[in-house]
Amino acid sequence: MQLATSIPAMQRLAKKWRRAGVRIALVPTMGFLHAGHLSLVQAARKRVGAAGQVVLSIYVNPTQFGPHEDFSRYPRDLQRDLQLCRVAGVDLVFAPGDAEMYPGKSAGDYSTFVIEENISQGMEGAARPTHFRGVTTVVAKLFNLVRPDVAVFGQKDFQQAAVLQRMTRDLNFPVQFVIAPTLREADGLAMSSRNKYLNPEQRAQAVILYHALQAVRAAVKKPVVAARLKADLKQFFTAAPLARLDYVEFFDPATLAPVKQVRRGTHMALAVFFGNTRLIDNVRL
Ligand code: AMP
Repeated sequence: MQLATSIPAMQRLAKKWRRAGVRIALVPTMGFLHAGHLSLVQAARKRVGAAGQVVLSIYVNPTQFGPHEDFSRYPRDLQRDLQLCRVAGVDLVFAPGDAEMYPGKSAGDYSTFVIEENISQGMEGAARPTHFRGVTTVVAKLFNLVRPDVAVFGQKDFQQAAVLQRMTRDLNFPVQFVIAPTLREADGLAMSSRNKYLNPEQRAQAVILYHALQAVRAAVKKPVVAARLKADLKQFFTAAPLARLDYVEFFDPATLAPVKQVRRGTHMALAVFFGNTRLIDNVRL
């Protein structure tokens, strides 16, 4: 397995592979890897085969964090990540530094961003106003640097995947876009690097996100009014006193537009605080 920490090194390799007709798959991550990330590596390998190159990028992207969010304390452990990548069969880890990814940002002369203006507005976009601008910008940069044939993202971040898929279409990136299923802990909690922040009491109650998705799934065998479900969910969350529901939304998975009537096929997403830790999850009902 190779490690590239500079942009020129990454560009040299990508150029060499493309010249040789080698297919490239990219799995963008912020590191502190878990089995969910590694399942994306398997999906990537399946798409490009043994002769292809699977690139996993590790970059805690500062522009997708708000000023009071967890950028500086986001968990990082490159050595551990590299070992997991070796075992998972990654060909190249690309782990660039901030000074290269955002040249001049501290001096204020980094000034080009990619902005999706429609489906990035609600839910995570409403709760974290500059978040998706950072996500689309960094992934556009990674697409330019790695020039992948295939890119794999997790359904765990459903809105993120939808926004990036729209960007890929709108800006004509020649990238096959793959969305892979959410991997969960034994009790149903979606795997996330941020689960590390939870203390044992919070961790025990965090399964309420999954239970809420399951409870609604059971309730919508026939159509139900969204407002009614939202009210019921507020009540449901009183069972986990350490949890604070940030939002729950019911929407059309194709347009991300909220719906009034929730039925099978409607998508549900929610965000929940445990102290300062914010967890998200979603499911197609
Ligand atoms: P992150 O490092 O959290 O930015 O995530 C990197 C990629 O892994 C994103 O495409 C996520 O949607 C995906 N991902 C995160 N958690 C999971 C999970 N539990 N199962 C599957 N994919 C995931």
